[in-house]
Amino acid sequence: MAASAAQKVQEIREVTRIERIGAHSHIRGLGLDDALDARNVSQGMVGQVTARRAAGIILEMIKDGKIAGRACLIAGQPGTGKTAIAMGMAQALGQDTPFTAMAGSEIFSLEMSKTEALTQAFRKSIGVRIKEETEIIEGEVVEIQIDRPAAGTGAKVGKLTLKTTEMETIYDLGQKMIESLTKEKVQAGDIITIDKATGKITRLGRSFTRARDYDAMGPQTKFVQCPEGELQKRKEVVHTVSLHEIDVINSRTQGFLALFSGDTGEIKSEVREQINAKVAEWREEGKAEIVPGVLFIDEVHMLDIECFSYLNRALETDMAPVLIMATNRGITRIRGTNYQSPHGIPIDLLDRLLIIATTPYEEKEVKQILKIRCEEEDVEMSDDALTVLTRIGMETSLRYSIQIITSANLVCRKRKGAEVNVDDIKRVYALFLDESRSTQFLKEYQQEFMFNELGGDKEEMDVS
Ligand code: ATP
Repeated sequence: MAASAAQKVQEIREVTRIERIGAHSHIRGLGLDDALDARNVSQGMVGQVTARRAAGIILEMIKDGKIAGRACLIAGQPGTGKTAIAMGMAQALGQDTPFTAMAGSEIFSLEMSKTEALTQAFRKSIGVRIKEETEIIEGEVVEIQIDRPAAGTGAKVGKLTLKTTEMETIYDLGQKMIESLTKEKVQAGDIITIDKATGKITRLGRSFTRARDYDAMGPQTKFVQCPEGELQKRKEVVHTVSLHEIDVINSRTQGFLALFSGDTGEIKSEVREQINAKVAEWREEGKAEIVPGVLFIDEVHMLDIECFSYLNRALETDMAPVLIMATNRGITRIRGTNYQSPHGIPIDLLDRLLIIATTPYEEKEVKQILKIRCEEEDVEMSDDALTVLTRIGMETSLRYSIQIITSANLVCRKRKGAEVNVDDIKRVYALFLDESRSTQFLKEYQQEFMFNELGGDKEEMDVS
């Protein structure tokens, strides 16, 4: 079960791993040196050195397996790189460590309860590294017979007869094996290996015993001594899947296809109990190990008291991932209560957090970030335009100015220009309002709108 489940999941991952230019696609790591000091500009990261260094230390602890079940909070004003730092941590952890990102508001879905949504997020962040031994068989190809594709199916089938010194074995050829036979240009008389788990065939060379028959093939042909005794090698294959993926694959109501749509619905607690027991068994037998990953919850102030109490408890389980949260709120109400608390997080949870603060950027940092974004989006921008854009970034927000890059590039392409100039930037600035101009506009014209019914809600204040 472990093997096939892991393979299915890995195939799905490969399909879904499509590179896109997202808001944080320029971030390739935390940009730290060996002493964990932050380089000013590195791996797509700019400035914010104290927070990055702190994140680096947490990362080291994660790698050493020292802080499973611990939590950290990144707090700071909007657009100060909280999410970027979390992404940097994820990149630095590598592909084998599960990283799940979600926004606090995502748990308020109609399809599942809040605690189910959190449980799924937790289990997505716990990796199970499954070790398998697979057999590799080596021998000489006696005969290959590939049938024509069966009508209507397009699938080729066939047989392969392989000889080791002790016996001749006939293999049914699956599509994968046929593909690797063709790729390796295998013919009768070749020495090959077959990986039994993956069906991969590797051509090692020509058989020595038949070498006489192939004299005509010239000196470039590699002859291999025909294997003595039955050559069977064992190798270890390691797959890492998340606990959630194992849950979904084994949940009868969902089936593994739900992994494609993400539409997994609620998973029964019996399924989870069975999986936990199975994984515990694999761990005992040395077949699997747990890799605690990272769960990142952005806008954590959107969670309510029930969620916080769930988190408190969930962090205590022995397989818990590292929880990283981010918020841009100061003292605010804890949702679901009438109490106020720093960042809207209950004191008992706050007490167990490592808190990292982010600070606003200076002009030269904003300029550098915008420059990196231009490179990421393949946008050529004149120095003047970059300077104007930086000013806009300082006066409005970093996010707004990052968004201008794409639109200004479109305007530039429309006029068939080679690089974005100051006029393109001005044009887009006039077309799209930033937050403060939009507010100003609403204030001036509020009588004309129908939705200006909000009373003064003063309970939430920004960190600033
Ligand atoms: P919010 O509180 O609104 O969620 P945030 O603090 O999470 O904001 P980000 O989303 O990380 O802010 O930053 C806004 C944009 O600026 C993103 O595209 C991010 O990748 C980029 N950015 C922020 N800080 C840095 C940095 N230090 N280096 C490189 N890019 C950055």
